[in-house]
Amino acid sequence: MRARAIPVETRLAASPTNSKRVAAFRRALLRWYDHHRRDLPWRKTRDPYLIWLSEIMLQQTRVAAVLDHYRIFLERFPSIEALAGASEDAVLAAWSGLGYYRRARMLRQCAQELVESHDGRFPATAEALRTLPGIGRYTAAAIASISFDEPVAVVDGNVERVVRRLMGRDLAQQEIWKCAQSLLNTSRPGDFNQSMMELGATVCLPRDPKCPTCPVRKWCVTQQSPQGTNRTLTPINMERGGSSPGKASKRKGPQVKQEIWCVLNQRDGRIRLVQRSRNSSLMPGMWELPRVAQKPRRAPWQTFRHSITITDYIVHVHRNRAPAAKGQWIPAASISHLPVTGLTRKILKAAAII
Ligand code: SF4
Repeated sequence: MRARAIPVETRLAASPTNSKRVAAFRRALLRWYDHHRRDLPWRKTRDPYLIWLSEIMLQQTRVAAVLDHYRIFLERFPSIEALAGASEDAVLAAWSGLGYYRRARMLRQCAQELVESHDGRFPATAEALRTLPGIGRYTAAAIASISFDEPVAVVDGNVERVVRRLMGRDLAQQEIWKCAQSLLNTSRPGDFNQSMMELGATVCLPRDPKCPTCPVRKWCVTQQSPQGTNRTLTPINMERGGSSPGKASKRKGPQVKQEIWCVLNQRDGRIRLVQRSRNSSLMPGMWELPRVAQKPRRAPWQTFRHSITITDYIVHVHRNRAPAAKGQWIPAASISHLPVTGLTRKILKAAAII
């Protein structure tokens, strides 16, 4: 009697219990990571402060957008103590342009708690890290594994996609964490976690995975299924931008379009800016160019496109109109130390003011 063939979908799903297959999978992935990982500043260190900062910045933000901010932020706040002692405005100014400003506020709050209650040091376990402000399951696991070698797996949007494709089926969130943990190389947990994220960011891409060059294709159910990659490759957005193509945010529902007009008024090396209300639900306390309520008759100096969460703005900028009563003249030289909105930063850069 002929043995029944094992359905292809179950082969990899069964593999976490197959120690030889899993060991070979880990070796192949780590070998690839050792030779092909991108040269990024936070990969040259295990300092938990630097790892934490990079992980928070990379949430919902692309690597290319993070690189400059990471360098500038560390120049201004080279230690937990420096960050804890800084004003909120100074931290927001260094964060300006990265968006999702709550991350910057939580970062400062967390630094203050570390200084006040932990002697300025990070706890060394994921469990203890999760008790700190702004540190969730993913970030705690990333810091614990990369900085302290704790054998705990991370799951971000990239890892989630890789695991689902390896298994060839949809998995509940808890199953993905479990599966990632069972695949983890416990002697190099930090490198292994980063190798899974790197694979998702550079090879197992959301829309166009590079299966022919994938180091783990041998173990991938999706790649080996008769329908190939077309069957189960549902695009999955990335929570931690990490890198790759496409914006990282998980957007739900349709984008809202909004058209606005604002004024770039420049005089004697100063710029007219207004501060948003401290109680505003969006970017409280940040500085921006004054808006005009009605469409001016003249053509704008430039038009920009800018997205904030679910709103796509079309922003017409007029120059050198009479200043509105509201606002203040701010010296251009001090703007880099002011918490200005990302849109304002974009406009001032285009005007070669900053
Ligand atoms: Fe992703 Fe293709 Fe590699 Fe499978 S073989 S993990 S689908 S890139």
